[in-house]
This record gives sequence, structure tokens and C-alpha cells, in this order.
Amino acid sequence: MSQPVSTLPLCEARVAALVAGVVVIGAGQAGGRAVETLRAQGFSGAITLIGDEPDPPYERPSLSKEMLHVTDQETIAWVQKPEFYAANKIDFRPGTRVAAINRGQHSVTLEGGDEIKYGALIIATGARVRHLNLPGASLQNSHYIRTLADSRALRQRLVAGSRVVVIGAGFIGLEAAAAAVTRGCAVSVIEIGSQPLGRVVPAQVGAYYEALHASHGVKFYFNTSLARFHQRDETVIVETGTGDMIPAETVIVGIGVIPNAELAGNAGLPVERGIIVDEYGCTADKFIFAVGDVAYHFNPLFDRHILLESWQNAQNQAITIAKNLTSLAGAVPYAELPWFWSDQYDVNLQMFGLAEPEADCIIRGNPKTKSWILFQLKSNRMICAIGMNAARDLRPARDLITMGAVLKSEELADISVPMAEILRREKRERALVG
Ligand SMILES: Cc1cc2nc3c(=O)[nH]c(=O)nc-3n(C[C@H](O)[C@H](O)[C@H](O)COP(=O)(O)OP(=O)(O)OC[C@H]3O[C@@H](n4cnc5c(N)ncnc54)[C@H](O)[C@@H]3O)c2cc1C
Repeated sequence: MSQPVSTLPLCEARVAALVAGVVVIGAGQAGGRAVETLRAQGFSGAITLIGDEPDPPYERPSLSKEMLHVTDQETIAWVQKPEFYAANKIDFRPGTRVAAINRGQHSVTLEGGDEIKYGALIIATGARVRHLNLPGASLQNSHYIRTLADSRALRQRLVAGSRVVVIGAGFIGLEAAAAAVTRGCAVSVIEIGSQPLGRVVPAQVGAYYEALHASHGVKFYFNTSLARFHQRDETVIVETGTGDMIPAETVIVGIGVIPNAELAGNAGLPVERGIIVDEYGCTADKFIFAVGDVAYHFNPLFDRHILLESWQNAQNQAITIAKNLTSLAGAVPYAELPWFWSDQYDVNLQMFGLAEPEADCIIRGNPKTKSWILFQLKSNRMICAIGMNAARDLRPARDLITMGAVLKSEELADISVPMAEILRREKRERALVG
């Protein structure tokens, strides 16, 4: 699966890229990694990187973590130092928005009317936050977390003794809740579902995070919809569907994101959840690629299209596709097992694979402690491993998932059997058979 495969469409895009250059729309993590990789691979054609934010590409994970914990220093993970782009002859255009893709002319139109020609186009427009649509929701004290500017504004608001209401108990909402608690705020979390993280992890992990936050004094309102926000001087009153009135100085909204796929859709490219691309990141137009949060990509490991909102995917998909655009050896499919992490208080969660509601759950260790793992198995093969402070045992688990190993639940649950030993045995047995 990871063998290079020559593909004619990519050959055409490669030649076109060399002749007329590569344009990348979106200067986030994926866009930044794409242009960096093109130059690292020796690509000598023109590169234009167009981003509507004022900053050079940066990574977002710290925005809901370290950035919120202190106000006296900023933890910004730049993809490359700001001077990198000019030094590498990359025409970086910050604060610039692409308004349209003109496939017939092989060009993009900028807001303002300028046109830029491309040989190959990479769409790395990411996603935007989903906004609350209810009376009062645009009040001054409501905060979302997607950009550096968002995080800078929010960190000033997390004053010790103030009240914070978080709407949505997903990863970003919970990370912000943990940061607010750490800063000395009184935090309430309102969630429409029956427990935290309900869309992405099994119930046992959700219950663990509920208990973890409750132990830090967070108050949860589950199965709770919202009616409206009221502004009373400096205070926002969040009125729930059941009539509760929850006052706060700051409201943080984390109710998911929407892929920025409209440019592609308006240009006639197929969009479903995100921009539909194959395992080479290629859209229905052989000169246009999409990577990162906006790409609904075919992953050969799952034999289906998936949409991921993760650091790993933004990074490695962009690198793979940029390498393919420059490689004479042929194209390599992007086929990685998804990996995600989250930091809340002193708990580091890492997740390999994608959780499925119907899969069997096996617990290794004690969920009442700070370190344990939940495995998901289907037909005795591991499909997902979610570990809390358990990085060492997760690495063998990751390999067992990719190998498609047939496993015994009792053994996985037994902490006296090292995970590394299970992996070693599996490799030995395969070597014997092979
Ligand atoms: C607060 C936060 C915390 C996170 N924490 C984690 C974590 O702990 N672990 C993890 O694995 N992942 C995490 N993620 C997810 C990860 O950061 C994203 O998956 C990643 O940033 C996606 O990168 P991207 O380049 O595809 O998109 P983005 O980073 O969204 O970049 C896209 C860029 O394109 C710009 N753009 C859009 N449309 C246009 C246009 N028409 N013209 C010009 N520019 C345009 C956007 O403004 C943006 O700058 C987190 C995300 C956030 C927001």
C-alpha cells in the first residue's frame, strides 16, 4: 500500500506546476507544510501562498491549551519562521482572500479582483467555527477559538474569580474549560448530549472526562439546549431551553467547525462534507488538490472517504501531496492511521484509529486512576486505542491496529502482559508464517 505508484494525472500536474507554478490557498498548517515541502524537495517553479489571516502559517493546538494558561507569554508554534517564505522565494500573501477558482483559465481571483495563474492548485482552506444561531449569541463576551486573534482575546478574559460558561463539551470546549479552571475561573459547561465528547469517543471515555472536570469543580448541564443570551452590564446570562439562567462574564462556544469548501463547490468540484479527493489528494480536476481539514479524502486503510480535523492529518497529508507533486519516482498514497491528542489538566489523551459506536470496548487499567486505555475491537481486530497518560502502551497498540492483528480481549485487559510483548509475539508469528 505504501509502494510508490505512478499515476498519469499527477504527471500532468507535475509538469504544469513546473511551467506555471503552484498556488496554495490557505496559509494554515497544511498550506504552510505544503509550500515548505515543495521547496525542500527541490521544486524550482513559482510558489504563491495566499492566506486571509494576517500571520504566517501556525499550528492551532496551543490556542486552546498553553496560550490560555498564561497571559505574560505566548506559545505560538509557527510552521516556519516568518522570514522563511521570502528567503525561499515563496510569494506569501497574508491578509488576502481568494474569491474564486477559475478552472478554465487555471487561475484564482483574489478579493479585489487580481488574478493569479496556476499550473497546480492546492486548496488548504481548513475549516471555520460553527456559530451559535440564537438571540444574543453575538454579544461581546462570546468567544470562539480558531485563530491566534481568538485565543489572544480569550486569554485576557480568563480572570481569576470570574465566571465562564462553555457551550459544547467537545475537545476544544473541554480544553478551554480546563484552562479557565487553571486560571481560577468558576466554570459551567452546557452540552446538548448526555455526556462529554459524545460524538468522538466511547461512553467510558466521556464518563472519565466528566468525572475529571467535576473533580476540578466544573458544573455540567447535560441534555441542555439554549434559548438565548441576555447582556446585563458586564454579565451575560445564558438562558437554557429548560429555563435555567446561568450568569457569566465570559462565554466560550465550541460547537464544531464547517469545512471551507465553498470555493471548490462554486468551481464545480464535488463536495460532500469536505472537498472530495482521492488518496493522492486529487480532486475531480487533475490540476487541483485539497489537503487538511477541508479534504474529504479516500483513505486506503479504511477503504472509504474520511474527514479529519487533526494536526497529524494537516501536516502529513500536505507533505505527502507536495512530495507527490515533485517526485519523479511516482506518487505515494496518503494512508495513515489517524492520531489525535488532547491535554486537559494533568491528563494527556492520545487516540489512534477512529472509534465506532458498535465496536467492543476493552479496558486496560483502572479508569479511576490517571492512566488507563480503552481498546475497541471488531471481530477481534483492534480498530481504535484511546489512552490516558499511556503513551508507552499506545505505540504497540498503534502497530497492532495497522497490522490487523487478531487479539485476545483477556490479554489486552491484563496489565501484567506488556503491550510490547503482545506486539513482539505477533511479529514473531508473522515472520514464521512468512
Ligand atoms: C483551538 C484548536 C485546538 C486544536 N487542538 C488539536 C489537538 O490538540 N490535536 C490535534 O490533532 N488537532 C488539534 N486541532 C486541529 C488542528 O489544528 C487542525 O486540524 C489544523 O489546524 C488544520 O489545518 P488546515 O491547514 O487544514 O486548516 P486551518 O488551520 O484552518 O488553515 C486554513 C487557513 O486557510 C484560510 N482560508 C480559508 N479560506 C480562505 C480563502 N478563501 N482565501 C485565503 N485563505 C483562506 C483560513 O483562514 C486559515 O488561515 C485544534 C484546532 C483548534 C482550532
